[in-house]
Amino acid sequence: MKFVSTRNPGGPTVSFPEALFRGIAPDGGLYHPVEEPDLRALVRSLGEDASYVDCAAALIEGLFGEDHDAEQARRLALKAFPFQPRLRSLGPGMELLELFHGPSCAFKDFGASFLAATMEEELLRGGGESYIPAGRAIILTATSGDTGSAVAHAFAGRRNIDVVILYPSGRVSPLQEKQLTTLGGNILALEVRGSFDDCQRMVKEAFSDPDLAGRLTLTSANSINVGRLIPQSFYYVYAFAQLREREEDELVFCVPSGNFGNLTAGILAWHWGMPVSGFIAATNANDVVPRFLETGVFTPRPSVKTLANAMDVGNPSNFERLQHLFGGAGSMPIRGLLTGLSVPDAVIAATMKKTWETRGELLCPHTAAGVYAAQTFLDAERAENTLVVTLATAHPAKFVEVCREAVGVEPEIPERLACLLERPKQSVLVDNTLHALSRELLNRFT
Ligand SMILES: *Cc1c(COP(=O)(O)O)cnc(C)c1O
Repeated sequence: MKFVSTRNPGGPTVSFPEALFRGIAPDGGLYHPVEEPDLRALVRSLGEDASYVDCAAALIEGLFGEDHDAEQARRLALKAFPFQPRLRSLGPGMELLELFHGPSCAFKDFGASFLAATMEEELLRGGGESYIPAGRAIILTATSGDTGSAVAHAFAGRRNIDVVILYPSGRVSPLQEKQLTTLGGNILALEVRGSFDDCQRMVKEAFSDPDLAGRLTLTSANSINVGRLIPQSFYYVYAFAQLREREEDELVFCVPSGNFGNLTAGILAWHWGMPVSGFIAATNANDVVPRFLETGVFTPRPSVKTLANAMDVGNPSNFERLQHLFGGAGSMPIRGLLTGLSVPDAVIAATMKKTWETRGELLCPHTAAGVYAAQTFLDAERAENTLVVTLATAHPAKFVEVCREAVGVEPEIPERLACLLERPKQSVLVDNTLHALSRELLNRFT
């Protein structure tokens, strides 16, 4: 599988490892697969009895067969996915695909863990390529909380990789801070005296600094990396395989969305041959994509703060990929497959409360937006033969305050989060300047 920039579809192609380590194309575009593999037969061959690792291994081989035979594909799948999604019923026509059983309790674990496993595999080959000359790399990333914790857990203990995470001092939740700062080893947490924007600016400046570039191999692990995008398509195929024997003959996925990476991955799976009838994009009050689907006009706007804060995005970066997938500016084909609904905070809170009272299920606010959109879709279509699978993107325990406010209950904290709270914080306090960051990097890694 080769990759090309969304900004120059006829331009030069790069290999998967190169796309992984470069992260973003030199022209500023996003990497996107050139070929459209036909995985229809492969998807059809997977049934209810296929485990998550079976599905992932089959897809890795199907997509990257030139680099991974069946045995290597299975080894990579086992290494990347020691945790699994779980399906559970949420009433007639409604399924939840729980994606929060990984180490950081959110779906981002799937993408981050696959990225870490593939990068480690490439680096252990010894380097020599222009993008990893010495066979070692440093992941440099800024976080406002959630992405950083998935990345930290995914890379902890991986060989030949160090991770440097910048986070704004005093501006992440206590649990998020523990997730970033208690791993130690190859994970360095830099606590920046400044805002998240400062952290992002420092990372950007470091990437374009010629002195650092000459001395260190810096790479990013942000959500637009194809190494995080592609593995997110695996759980759609897994859910499809699990549910294909059901009597309902239409399957629709409902995806709580912010940057639209998760949804793009589902649409990729559809593109490659997973026969589902549609997708629902559930957003919070940040409604640029639902508006686009209604009007055909895409108007990015500054984001507004909501209860579902991991989806507070006013200019979703993966929109460029969705457009690329559907052949440029024309929005008609995308509108046939995708519907959108923006769910305001009051409705998110009411859905959390209602689902708790009627089913005893505590949802995180993002998942609640999805469940509401799924129910609205089912009601509007009066679709008796339709099954909607809503992606449960995070564990409610990551949003204790929201659960307390909206539902009046305390979520149970899973053991893997609870034990982090006991560990000591290890971070290095730095000023919000490139100079401070460079000094830290050069001291440690040269
Ligand atoms: C990141 C995130 C989302 C949004 O996913 P995108 O791929 O950015 O659309 C939704 N829910 C949770 C809990 C998240 O962490």
